[in-house]
Amino acid sequence: MNWLKRLLNRNKRRIPDALWQTCLARLPFVQQLPASDLGRLKSLSETMLATKPVTGAGNLELTDEIAVLIAAQACLLVLNLTLDLYDDMVGIIVYPSAFIVPISEIDEAGVVHEWREPLSGEAVHAGGAVVLSWEDVENAQAFGVGHNVVIHEFAHKIDMARGSANGFPPFLRDYHQDIGARRWQRAFSAAYADFSRRVETLDRQLSGNFDFANPADAQRYDALFATLPMDAYAAKHPAEFFAVASEVFFLQPQPLASDYPEVYTLLAHYYRQDPLMRS
Ligand SMILES: [Zn+2]
Repeated sequence: MNWLKRLLNRNKRRIPDALWQTCLARLPFVQQLPASDLGRLKSLSETMLATKPVTGAGNLELTDEIAVLIAAQACLLVLNLTLDLYDDMVGIIVYPSAFIVPISEIDEAGVVHEWREPLSGEAVHAGGAVVLSWEDVENAQAFGVGHNVVIHEFAHKIDMARGSANGFPPFLRDYHQDIGARRWQRAFSAAYADFSRRVETLDRQLSGNFDFANPADAQRYDALFATLPMDAYAAKHPAEFFAVASEVFFLQPQPLASDYPEVYTLLAHYYRQDPLMRS
């Protein structure tokens, strides 16, 4: 029986040190936290794993390492806040690789479009689970520096803690007195509008028959979009802007802080962490 099962069955809460160190070695952006923060992160991860079931799906053999790696990253977001922000999450479901979900969207003409799409992660509406593809959790770097599906989905979960995701996470009385709602709204709206304009401008520079499968086209895309401080996907919706900005905030904060300093400052106030000071 593995450690996670023992933990859930016998309520043994401690993550073995060797396992914790193995996981930290795979998470350099976590490993650079001061020792006192790491101790608190471990304890938060233990509480999360004891209270939120992690379930393997699609024949994934769930290991202790998978569970701890996910919990440590999920808890990094709330390291200086509270696990209460994940209260409405029923648990975490992990698939071996991208999972297919039916998507439906209504366009401006009121026509419903439905299709099936492979996803690397999904924070299922308020009250739902967080679903992750292990392959994408494990190979986050394959998508470029600054990508992290766990941070992304748990940022959505925080955003959803009081209703639907809109890029406006709940301000908690104990932690966020110093952030004005209007200041947040103004800074994020302006940054989102500017970022969306930049993405549109870059899109226009791609040829009409652009094809990701063509290596020359893919290379041109990478060169053009590398000028952005975060993935262009952030332009999809204000909720995605918050989630993608949270990814780079924790993993590669410098370009975000340079291009959108007010967004960086507000995220530092919100998460009560300053990743720029760690590197
Ligand atoms: Zn998203």
